[in-house]
Amino acid sequence: MRTDVAQPVRLADYRPPDYLIDTVVLDVLLHDTETRVRAKLSIRPNPAGRAGAPLVLDGDELTAKKILLDGQDISPETIFVAPDQLTLASPPRQPFVLEIETEINPSANTKLMGLYRSGPVYCTQCEAEGFRRITYFLDRPDVLSVYTTRIEAAVSEAPILLSNGNKIDAGPIDGTDRHFAVWHDPFPKPSYLFALVGGDLGSIHDEFTTVSGRKVALGIYVEHGKEKSAVYAMDALKRSMAWDETAFGREYDLDMFNIVAVSSFNMGAMENKGLNVFNDKYVLALPETATDTDYANIEAVIAHEYFHNWTGNRITCRDWFQLCLKEGLTVFRDHEFSADQRSRAVRRIADVRTLRAAQFPEDAGPLAHNVRPDTYLEINNFYTATIYEKGSEIIRMLKVLIGETAFRAGMDLYFDRYDGTAATIENFISCFAEVSHRDLTQFSRWYHQAGTPLVEAQTSYDAAKQTFTLDLKQSCKPTPGQDHKEPFVIPIELGLVAADGAPIALQTGTEDGASADELARGVLELSTPERRVTFCDVATPPVASLLRGFSAPVRLSQSVNENELIALVAHDSDSFNRWQAAQTYATRLLLRSVDLVRSGGKPCEDEAFGEALYRAIESNIGDPAFAAQVISLPSEADMAREIGENVDPDAIHVAKQALRAALGRQLAPILLQTYERLAPEGAYSPDAAAAGRRALRTACLDLYAAGVPDEGGALAQRQFETAQTMTDEIAALGILTHVPGERREQALDTFYQRHSSEPLVIDKWFILQATIPEKGTLARVKKLMEHPAFSLTNPNRVRSLIGAFASGNQTQFNAADGSGYHFLAEIVIGLDRTNPQVAARLLAAFKSWRALESKRSALAEAALRRVAQVNDLSADVKDIAGRSLA
Ligand SMILES: [Zn+2]
Repeated sequence: MRTDVAQPVRLADYRPPDYLIDTVVLDVLLHDTETRVRAKLSIRPNPAGRAGAPLVLDGDELTAKKILLDGQDISPETIFVAPDQLTLASPPRQPFVLEIETEINPSANTKLMGLYRSGPVYCTQCEAEGFRRITYFLDRPDVLSVYTTRIEAAVSEAPILLSNGNKIDAGPIDGTDRHFAVWHDPFPKPSYLFALVGGDLGSIHDEFTTVSGRKVALGIYVEHGKEKSAVYAMDALKRSMAWDETAFGREYDLDMFNIVAVSSFNMGAMENKGLNVFNDKYVLALPETATDTDYANIEAVIAHEYFHNWTGNRITCRDWFQLCLKEGLTVFRDHEFSADQRSRAVRRIADVRTLRAAQFPEDAGPLAHNVRPDTYLEINNFYTATIYEKGSEIIRMLKVLIGETAFRAGMDLYFDRYDGTAATIENFISCFAEVSHRDLTQFSRWYHQAGTPLVEAQTSYDAAKQTFTLDLKQSCKPTPGQDHKEPFVIPIELGLVAADGAPIALQTGTEDGASADELARGVLELSTPERRVTFCDVATPPVASLLRGFSAPVRLSQSVNENELIALVAHDSDSFNRWQAAQTYATRLLLRSVDLVRSGGKPCEDEAFGEALYRAIESNIGDPAFAAQVISLPSEADMAREIGENVDPDAIHVAKQALRAALGRQLAPILLQTYERLAPEGAYSPDAAAAGRRALRTACLDLYAAGVPDEGGALAQRQFETAQTMTDEIAALGILTHVPGERREQALDTFYQRHSSEPLVIDKWFILQATIPEKGTLARVKKLMEHPAFSLTNPNRVRSLIGAFASGNQTQFNAADGSGYHFLAEIVIGLDRTNPQVAARLLAAFKSWRALESKRSALAEAALRRVAQVNDLSADVKDIAGRSLA
């Protein structure tokens, strides 16, 4: 077992390892309950470590069967072996070979870390600290070794045997029903990138020729019968490989690249060198089982894991505090890839929606942490939106600040200088400082200070002088452990828009000026608490379009009136800000309505916003994906975050529904007309243009049904009955599900009957039901937990039913009687015994509890305390509960 009282790990305590392990030779004899692992480790003292230090190898629930040092038994006084540690008191001062044989039980491994079984398949997950559940090791990312892995298994059980690198040998074991395969990975790697798969799997194969002409054999392994569903993933893989060559000059380096899809997986996917292991939801797609969003996610996750080959694998992290070095950077790379494959503006809007939905609440609550943390209790809890999404935003800002050419030069230098090493954020940033000749010390605060900065912008126009003055002010609220924040470097991309929509050239005088470079690029740098910039030769009062493209992960509060927002929706040359102006307008309307509802009144009405949306639909006929984003209102969670304190989720829900209904009524004719105009024609294609048409069609139907429920419901019913694709089918079912009654239950039944053999589709069925904003939903969720399609041991099922309820159902999870909180607490306590990682993720749904109105926050706190008081909690859950309550 892990130590009961978890000790915090601190960045300041980092010390190089005392020993290095140059090569690892593994011999794994797969067996469902008694797998034998023989590890032969070539170890030597690290010149940078402490001479003569004891050798302490990590373990986790291991049973050692045999240990030899240079082929000899070890005297019992000099070795200490426990399930979580192996210590050699005085190892040789010269290189030596340690042979360790362990026995593990993959079938009993419900934590899904180390070697486990996903159905009939043997697979591994080693990041962050899973390799120590396979054998004793220096299980830390700065120990890089060359691995050779022999796997042996019964042919009938596991005809496919895969590991990292290239396959160098394979064959039957004479006289038995067993066979073996040997894999060799020539690239030194940390243990968290080790992987092994054994099973009876179907596969598809293809080939990619790299820019220097080397042929790479590609394989995707899936459950038998699912081969066709992997074709899109293969296509995405080949596009990713080609893109990384042109966009970043990165070529693939092995002869083989394999992907395996498994159904039981804690994470989305894992970038093990040459052998990516995927949650099957990010591989499998057919038009009739996957939505456009699923296709886009598959493309993004395939790309993300592939891109890790350079950012994460070739250059890895020195320690887990540097997690954002590989994750933030690789998210940035996959965002860029998706933007190039699809519409850049629409991708940016989607990415910002994700950032605001997942990261902003984290940054505003008790779980706030630095993009590079200083300390952790359980590293598994740091695979967060802050590390990933905000980490990516930092890289994006860096590119905006130093420009595209210097950014690429900095990346090239980083690859060149740190290839084959375990690096730090300082190493990374130093490359960009060097090529851009800029001091990036202050910029680096983004890594060291948590919290979302607030930028307040005041503007004033002087008609006599024809000047326009912009006053910017930055601030950041305290976060746990950080009461005071130093100013950030915030790049603010901007433009001035005249009333008729014409752009106004940016010019400043000597007083309150901006640099020539800032004006040329349209980017102001806010690096002081306050800054004033006065633009001159401004003939008419303009509207400032600030934070274009969402140039920094901040909250912006701008003195701009409703008419000016409507002008931006119509005219801003920056698509992102056209969308943002509509969101800001809707947010203001909703905030006013929430106040009215809470004081017993009716939500407010506003025809001007409807008219602006009308024009947005009309003027974006050529870009339906963008129009769909403009008419999609802020979510209830967005509103809760915007309100920030004393939040009443019921009032938000009432306000939102009222606005949807009013817009639906006002816009009914154009919504219906657009819906009909965009009817599907021809065969399904997952490309961005076709997906965009479906997205707008869905958004129109959704709003129409909110405004005109009878006709809209009938239309949804017809679409549900005739849909040829999952995108259309699930959109229609979503609308039907929100109307109580027999029709809903029938539609849900029909959907289940149609798709009962597809667990990933049934996950959608769980999500829809778990997010119904009605009183009976918790009872429905509890009943669904007894459904044969549900399983508490499969993370995808848990996330779809319980996770969707906790994170996606604002009114019912936050029910005023505390029933939602109580339910989640009980689930977390139970699940912690089998899968602590998934349990801890669920518990993080409480991250905004302090922002709730007092009655709800008291009930949420009680539920958190109930969890925190349980004996024998895992470090994962204990950490989240403790920090949430701190
Ligand atoms: Zn990643």
